Amino acid sequence: MDKYDICNGTIEIGCDCESALTAIFDHTYDTPRQPHHDLIHEIRSKLASSPVTWIARHVRGHQDKHVPIHLLDMWSQLNVEMDSLAKTYWNQMQPTIQPFYPANQTGWSLWIGQRKLSSWDRVSLYNHAQKTDILAHWSKRRCIPENLISSINWEACENAVKQLGLHRALWVPKWLAGYAPVGKVMKRYKFQTHAECPRCSEFEDTIHVIRCESLLATTKWDSSIATLDAWLLQVGTMPDLRHAIVTRLKAWKTILSTLGPMLTTLLKSKISSAGGAF
Ligand SMILES: [Zn+2]
Repeated sequence: MDKYDICNGTIEIGCDCESALTAIFDHTYDTPRQPHHDLIHEIRSKLASSPVTWIARHVRGHQDKHVPIHLLDMWSQLNVEMDSLAKTYWNQMQPTIQPFYPANQTGWSLWIGQRKLSSWDRVSLYNHAQKTDILAHWSKRRCIPENLISSINWEACENAVKQLGLHRALWVPKWLAGYAPVGKVMKRYKFQTHAECPRCSEFEDTIHVIRCESLLATTKWDSSIATLDAWLLQVGTMPDLRHAIVTRLKAWKTILSTLGPMLTTLLKSKISSAGGAF
């Protein structure tokens, strides 16, 4: 391939895909939610850094279907020729060339295994997040037996999280992963020199925030449990279930074993199954 050091001038591109031209030349910004975002973002970045001025024109495709090619203008004839060459190339290469992904030069890319996502695909990512290796990771991390983690009602959890609103819904996974700004994390990222709880001076991780035994924390805990109990009663929760939820939460607060997180998760699943939110 020959290369020329062109530093100025204008190049006009003819293209029969109007939506691509709009996304690349007309939109003020691109978003990962749009189809083929990886290509669009890459092209826009390359055009923005090019010293040459790029302009585009839309050319209607397949015009030779209705009009003899010699009567078409130059742009339309070139479009027909390009289409024909592209199909020939595809037919020759498609049986032997595997799909490949040129490395992108700008931003970052999102992969599921060997497959690159061309845009933000929430469904694929959620399905991937339920893969066995991730379930195994959380089973080990939160001490949830493997037979129980598969029995969690994820659909009910989804409904419950949606009721929290965006900000609290974003907060929940951060909290469960331990990445809230508690002493442990604040010390790790050097925002402070210690990991002490500001209320009782013990080591502070996310679990401690709930289990803290300072007067202020226990008062807040007791009032929260009372509020939850009243709400469970108000929404007509089965009495045995309500009793189990409240007594187990209280028991969880006092036991110090690593079973704590497991019970929390199980309770969330039970509450969600009953149609409530945690
Ligand atoms: Zn404390």
